[in-house]
Amino acid sequence: MAPHKIVLRFTSSTSDQPIIYHLVKDYDLVVNILKAQINPHLEGTLVLDLRGEKYEEGIEYLRNQGISVHPLTQEVVRNNDRCTSCGACTGHCPAGALAMERPSMEVQFDSDKCVVCLQCLKVCPVGAMEVRI
Ligand code: SF4
Ligand code: SF4
Repeated sequence: MAPHKIVLRFTSSTSDQPIIYHLVKDYDLVVNILKAQINPHLEGTLVLDLRGEKYEEGIEYLRNQGISVHPLTQEVVRNNDRCTSCGACTGHCPAGALAMERPSMEVQFDSDKCVVCLQCLKVCPVGAMEVRI
C-alpha cells in the first residue's frame, strides 16, 4: 500500500499523547516522520508518511483524539520578486523556515523546514508567500 503524506495539527491539550506508539502498536502502521515542530505553547505540527492496511482506522483514532488531520497536497513557496525582507513573517513561522540573515538583513526561506502551517500567508503584507497545490 502506498504511503499517505499527511499533516497533523495539535493543540496544547493533545500534544502530549503517545500517538506514534498507538499508530504502530494498535494499528500496525508504518510511520515515517518527515517534519515535526512544537511551539512554547505546546501547539504543534507533524508531517508524516503513513502506510498500512489499517490506515483509515488509524486516521479515525487520531481524529477521535482531537488532532486535526489533512492530506499534504500543497506546499508553500515564496515569490522572491514580491518579498521585501520586512521580517514580519519570521516571528510567526513555527518551524524556523523563515529567518532573518545577518548582517545582510535578508529573510531566507528554507522550504525543507516548512511544515505548511500557512501562518506566513496570513501575516505577509505583500502576499509573497503562496500555496502551490
Ligand atoms: S507555512 Fe510559512 S509559517 Fe508555516 S512553516 Fe512554512 S514557512 Fe513557516
Ligand atoms: S512577511 Fe512577506 S515580505 Fe516580509 S519577509 Fe516575510 S515573505 Fe518577505
